[in-house]
Amino acid sequence: MVLQQEAISQLRGQLRGELIEPEDSRYEEARKVYNAMIDRKPRLIVKCADTADVMAAIAFAHTHGVRVSIRGGGHNAGGLGVCDDGLVIDLSGIRYVHVDPASRTVRVGGGSVWRDVDHATHAFGLAVPSGIVASTGVGGLTLGGGLGHLTRKFGLTIDNLLSADIVLADGSFVVASADENTDLFWAIRGGGGNFGVVTSFLFQAHPVHTVCAGPMLWEIDQAADVMKWYREFIVQAPEEINGFFAFMVVPPAPPFPEHLHLKKMCGIVWCYPGPAEKANEILEPIRNYRPPAFEFFVPMPFPMLQGMFDGLYPAGLQWYWKADFFKELSDDAIARHVEHGSKVPTMFSGMHLYPINGAAHRVANKDTPWSYRDAEWSEVIVGVDPDPANKDLITTWARDYFDALHPFGAGGAYVNFMMEEGDERVRATYRDNYDRLASIKAKYDPQNFFCVNQNIRPGTA
Ligand SMILES: Cc1cc2nc3c(=O)[nH]c(=O)nc-3n(C[C@H](O)[C@H](O)[C@H](O)COP(=O)(O)OP(=O)(O)OC[C@H]3O[C@@H](n4cnc5c(N)ncnc54)[C@H](O)[C@@H]3O)c2cc1C
Repeated sequence: MVLQQEAISQLRGQLRGELIEPEDSRYEEARKVYNAMIDRKPRLIVKCADTADVMAAIAFAHTHGVRVSIRGGGHNAGGLGVCDDGLVIDLSGIRYVHVDPASRTVRVGGGSVWRDVDHATHAFGLAVPSGIVASTGVGGLTLGGGLGHLTRKFGLTIDNLLSADIVLADGSFVVASADENTDLFWAIRGGGGNFGVVTSFLFQAHPVHTVCAGPMLWEIDQAADVMKWYREFIVQAPEEINGFFAFMVVPPAPPFPEHLHLKKMCGIVWCYPGPAEKANEILEPIRNYRPPAFEFFVPMPFPMLQGMFDGLYPAGLQWYWKADFFKELSDDAIARHVEHGSKVPTMFSGMHLYPINGAAHRVANKDTPWSYRDAEWSEVIVGVDPDPANKDLITTWARDYFDALHPFGAGGAYVNFMMEEGDERVRATYRDNYDRLASIKAKYDPQNFFCVNQNIRPGTA
């Protein structure tokens, strides 16, 4: 892309944040995203300091016909926060959290990560439902839906979104909420970064402070029995208890005992925001049925649970993701899970099944674009390793596992667990909501200016 240096200098003069070009010493660091498999070279990176910087970056991109990507926490599997030869609107400088304890609402800057939110809200005995890794961006996770430890009790992250400040494709600023620009407010609760740059989110928080949480692990030869128990249990368990099922390799570090280090096992990671006595009563059946080989289920501050995986997964690993939704787990599907789950190829790789029921089921499929409220599980298979030489190993395992389970799937997949898989997959994910999303896209972004995402094409209903 040929851009006049004079125009670039003018943009630099308009910014309070930083403008980074390929020849700058900070460029190599600034273009990296969380997944080291992604290697894109943007022409410009605008590290926005505020909403005015976002508006200036959008105006520049419009005038010069430059492709843009929006970067929140940089965690997206497909690297959708960064683009080749275009302009990255990097929001990492718009990072703040203001808690209003009286209304239990939380105002969050568009480039914040969940660790920022958990830290600020915990002091007030509050939490906003998010994911399971604290370094994940608030922007991408929220706009795609948000599945995590509090889903069964408080719903998806989007179910707790009250309003958003948005800079649109034409550079104008709007607020979207249940009272203002209601079509846009509907679209951003699952429609991803298709509709504009969110510079600020307002969330409803909930009283969550200390939780009883952590993993229970079983030997692989018990995996089928544990999975069969789990499929019956989690769809009718009290909504307070959340548990995601996993195939994994035990990390060689505390709290795991040495004899289990690097062993392939299955597990359930629990979270119960209440007293230990009650939690233990709820989990007594599994302890009696198949006593875990190891468990670390203890009271802990909620931010500790949220940060539990952060040390294991620093930025810069190779990641390959595959995903699907499931309405049921048949015995046949479980047999295939056990077959592929027992071949997890590296210490960092694994399969997670996140429950989508409880409070998440009380929102109808059409109430938000997130159209798989009738599914019970969101599956994600992640092949992960620090060594690029293992790229084929982790990719092949994830694809084979996915292919074996896909015939049992409900159709689409959670957009935040997908890499770039094309239009058909995006349509399959939004199902009946796709046409409404396309017509809202036509109203707010008719030229498809925001196209580096799980793209919704502007269209008519
Ligand atoms: C280790 C790890 C753990 C994860 N765990 C969970 C989990 O438990 N639950 C879950 O639901 N998801 C989880 N995810 C998936 C995560 O939700 C997605 O990867 C999400 O895209 C990350 O958001 P981000 O802001 O960090 O990403 P980025 O790469 O910065 O952005 C991704 C896309 O989101 C959009 N976007 C981001 N911020 C904004 C904004 N402010 N305004 C407009 N658009 C924006 C853009 O379109 C961008 O292309 C996890 C991901 C990783 C890597």
